[in-house]
Amino acid sequence: MSVPSIQTNWELLLHHPPSPVEDLDWPIFEAQDIRVFVKRDDQLLLEAFPGDQAFCGNKWRKLKYNLITAKDQGCQQLLTFGGAFSNHIAATASAGFLFGFKTVGIIRGERIEPLNRTLAHAERCGMELQFWSRVRFQEKSDPQTMAQLALEFPAAYILPEGGTNIEAFKGCAELAAEILVQSNPDYVAISCGTGGTMAGMIPVLDGRATTLGFSALKGDFHTADIQNWLAPKAYANWKVLTEYHGGGYAKMNAELQAFIAFSKEAGWEMDPIYTGKALMGLVDLAEKGFFRKGSEVCFVHSGGLQGIEKN
Ligand SMILES: *Cc1c(COP(=O)(O)O)cnc(C)c1O
Repeated sequence: MSVPSIQTNWELLLHHPPSPVEDLDWPIFEAQDIRVFVKRDDQLLLEAFPGDQAFCGNKWRKLKYNLITAKDQGCQQLLTFGGAFSNHIAATASAGFLFGFKTVGIIRGERIEPLNRTLAHAERCGMELQFWSRVRFQEKSDPQTMAQLALEFPAAYILPEGGTNIEAFKGCAELAAEILVQSNPDYVAISCGTGGTMAGMIPVLDGRATTLGFSALKGDFHTADIQNWLAPKAYANWKVLTEYHGGGYAKMNAELQAFIAFSKEAGWEMDPIYTGKALMGLVDLAEKGFFRKGSEVCFVHSGGLQGIEKN
């Protein structure tokens, strides 16, 4: 297998085929007379960049225009923040390797050996990891800390934790536009962490589909955040569901564990932090008769499989 060059990778980033859509023909959906299909963003460019599953899913969508902007600004380095299981850290590390940036990852908490899959991947991609105490990490966006980082890493393009910013919305808008070219859904269902991905999709889906965000975290801050990002325009075509966090961020209860095992057995591998919770929530809503008969629902597989530890 030949290793694609950085230039080829840029070509692919700018002109890539859409990720496929596939039917999810589970009896439970048929029983409710709804059609569910999956937008396979977990497969996005996997063929082009084989070997790992880190630069895919919504993290790919969120990074695309940030990478272009970083290059345009002449930045040679990407610097970002995240927890030890962050898909955004993994994706940024991959992006650095694929597109020719040095990368720095500031990680919450202490270094624990051996590194988990996410962080081991990041280091393999050449990412420099800095471990910050939880207290220091909390202060990462303070002006003083930012000024210090700018001195230490003058050539760096700084991405926020989770990767949500204006450039990220552009990439997520493209995801929504792809869905509308490929299908005609009444609903688009997606896992929600910061809510940045769904915020990018909502304006494009307005008038066509309702966006349902299944929160992977406890709390109900998303609605306000999303409203702020979309302001001054107010949209009515979306809703965040806060009941499906399964105990909190990166927590897993027995029900979720059983669902993920069932889904994998049925040929649909979901990650425990995001997509597993969202699909379980979608099944629950369907069982409760949330969807009008004849509805079409697009479930976005936003990726996240990179972090699953394999023995
Ligand atoms: C980060 C992530 C999300 C959440 O994305 P937000 O834009 O923060 O809402 C959803 N699914 C997967 C697989 C992720 O890695």
